[in-house]
Amino acid sequence: MEKLQFKAESKRLLDLMINSIYTHKEIFLRELISNASDAIDKLAYLALTDDSVGMSRDDFEILLEVDRESRTLTVSDNGIGMSKAEMEENLGTIAHSGSLKFKTEMEKTDDIDIIGQFGVGFYSAFMVAEAVTVLSRKFGEDTAWKWESSGADGYTITSCEKETAGTQIIMKLKEDTEAENFSDFLSEYRLRSLVKKYSDYIRYPVKMEVEERRPLDPDAEEPEYETVKTLQTLNSMVPLWQKNKKDVSKEEYESFYREKFYDYEAPAGIVHISVEGSVTYKALLYIPSKAPYDFYTKDYKSGLQLYSSGVMIMDHCEDLLPEHFRFVRGVVDTQDLSLNISREMLQHTRELKTISSNLEKKIKAELLRIQENDRETYEKFYAAFGRQLKYGLVSDYGMHKELLQDLVLFHSAKENKLISLKEYCANKPESQKHLYYVTGGTAEQLSRLPQTKLLSDRGFDVLLLTEQVDEFIPQTLRNYEEKSFKNILTDDLELATDAEKKQAEEKAEELKEVLQFMKDALGEKVVDVRLSADLGDCAVAMIPDGGMSFEMEKYFRSINPESDYRAGRILQINADHKAVLQIKDLISEDPGRAGKLTELLYCQGLLMANLSIEDPSAYTALVLELI
Ligand code: ADP
Repeated sequence: MEKLQFKAESKRLLDLMINSIYTHKEIFLRELISNASDAIDKLAYLALTDDSVGMSRDDFEILLEVDRESRTLTVSDNGIGMSKAEMEENLGTIAHSGSLKFKTEMEKTDDIDIIGQFGVGFYSAFMVAEAVTVLSRKFGEDTAWKWESSGADGYTITSCEKETAGTQIIMKLKEDTEAENFSDFLSEYRLRSLVKKYSDYIRYPVKMEVEERRPLDPDAEEPEYETVKTLQTLNSMVPLWQKNKKDVSKEEYESFYREKFYDYEAPAGIVHISVEGSVTYKALLYIPSKAPYDFYTKDYKSGLQLYSSGVMIMDHCEDLLPEHFRFVRGVVDTQDLSLNISREMLQHTRELKTISSNLEKKIKAELLRIQENDRETYEKFYAAFGRQLKYGLVSDYGMHKELLQDLVLFHSAKENKLISLKEYCANKPESQKHLYYVTGGTAEQLSRLPQTKLLSDRGFDVLLLTEQVDEFIPQTLRNYEEKSFKNILTDDLELATDAEKKQAEEKAEELKEVLQFMKDALGEKVVDVRLSADLGDCAVAMIPDGGMSFEMEKYFRSINPESDYRAGRILQINADHKAVLQIKDLISEDPGRAGKLTELLYCQGLLMANLSIEDPSAYTALVLELI
């Protein structure tokens, strides 16, 4: 019979499994049981709405069978089953989540240990079996199919007999070697303990026929024994989220997370809640510490798994999570949702809204807890998902700012590390009236700006906003702890004392002529030229004339380069600076040169405010000429 070939990437994974020197091969059983449970979930879900399934919750089961003679171990389920096309698709390629993730990670590292931390899926059977046969019949179809493979040289699919819907995986175990005893997987004791260890929480019974020796007559003095076979359930069937928090260890929480959500890193945070009230539900949520490789793409599927009385209703229920917390993974289980309504209607139900708003609060509380108690973990989390929080803060016209403002971090110029707004405020001197920030560069660049230094000299910290989305945060928040945000490049910093201000007014009078000259020289380019006492060592600074900020101007231009949105420019000048004094002297002697110096200062103002110069080549020529 013709052998069909595995897709290239599947072959690589398969090779890895077959030749694995990995010591915890036992995890194959967990993988197969978990697949069986998923398949049952699907049929159980169908049974809710389709009477022709004719099965109730109690009818579902997963069966382990051992045949010592033929060295086979069989895992069967009465779940949804697979059609021929699905067999081809699911067992011939590895387009599905767990294995794909595993392969991607495997390509980055050759660490064999990561096998155990992944849901590596069906192929893990080849770690212990030399040949694998899959018999499956899809619910609602008449034909059953047999998939057979003894490894990397391909597989066959033929039709076969199977009475009922479901899947049977028959593994012919490898021969024992000096190093490895595969026969162990035929031992009742071993299988029982593996199910306990890895699959205890599976919600369907995992059954196995067990031999028991019973006395024929219990009262006899020297009883004779008979061997009876009974079908026993090996798992406790209580899902982790149904358990009491105090009965679950950290390891159990973490290994559940890894298996279920295909992450090999421990989560940054865990929220396990049990709520009884107007809506009764249990939720087990995980905050990952690392973004999945597709998180910031449209391929990423967010949402929580939704269970109703032990049946999974939805794999990715997005309505349970707000967009800004879309990185959270987890499970919600409730009996209080009506299952006979459509997905569209579901999201408008009061119950769903109650749950999701409560979860939002719990997630925030957990994030704050980590931020305060385990900064290293929080920063790791923040490196992965900080951007998502910031998008959330500025989206929907700032509707979520109260919720998110304490979760975002910014680089502090003073401390050279990430700090929260709360920490910024707690550390600022009494005399500081505003919250200072600067945007448009790396933390390194921004910390070296003269304005940053000017503020540092006064003991004022500056928040260095380095990401594009950051620019919208001060605008969205407007205030924090009743202090307003000031952009140190473009806003009036209001640093000057009353005495300084008085002095400045006198100077303005003195320099009236210079200001007018510069204003005339620049014409329409500026709205005004003014003195500022806040410039420190700088000659000039550019600030916007109310209304639109420079960030908004840049943003509009980034979407549409033709945009004619332009914030009015006000050139602030430093009355004490050499360059300004020079212009003053030149006005009568050499007005042409004074005009050029003015133009130069204007261009510097643009550069300092991170605005582009309208005509760079004219600017270069001007600089050379003045040299
Ligand atoms: P994963 O479980 O990560 O998707 P697997 O390699 O374990 O990857 O399985 C691949 C696919 O094969 C599953 O997604 C499922 O569609 C199908 N499958 C595996 N086992 C069964 C089963 N017992 N019953 C029905 N379908 C199954």
